Amino acid sequence: MAQGVCPGCGSTEVYAGEAYYGQANPNVRLKFGALRGTTVPVSALVCADCGRLEWRLALDGDDREGIRKHFSRVPTR
Ligand SMILES: [Zn+2]
Repeated sequence: MAQGVCPGCGSTEVYAGEAYYGQANPNVRLKFGALRGTTVPVSALVCADCGRLEWRLALDGDDREGIRKHFSRVPTR
């Protein structure tokens, strides 16, 4: 969806903005070890035709480094 095309219906009516799901704070806490972590803002891409929603984290360089160091990489198939 980041390329402006909905993978669900093929529409180019894709928009970016803030969205909330069940709480007022759209941030996500990423856990980097037992006591460390970072709080990252969340934004959303929404298809105005079919309603498909894709959540996105607004990552900075430290967030990316922490993810690569502390999360498990999913192997490619
Ligand atoms: Zn769509």
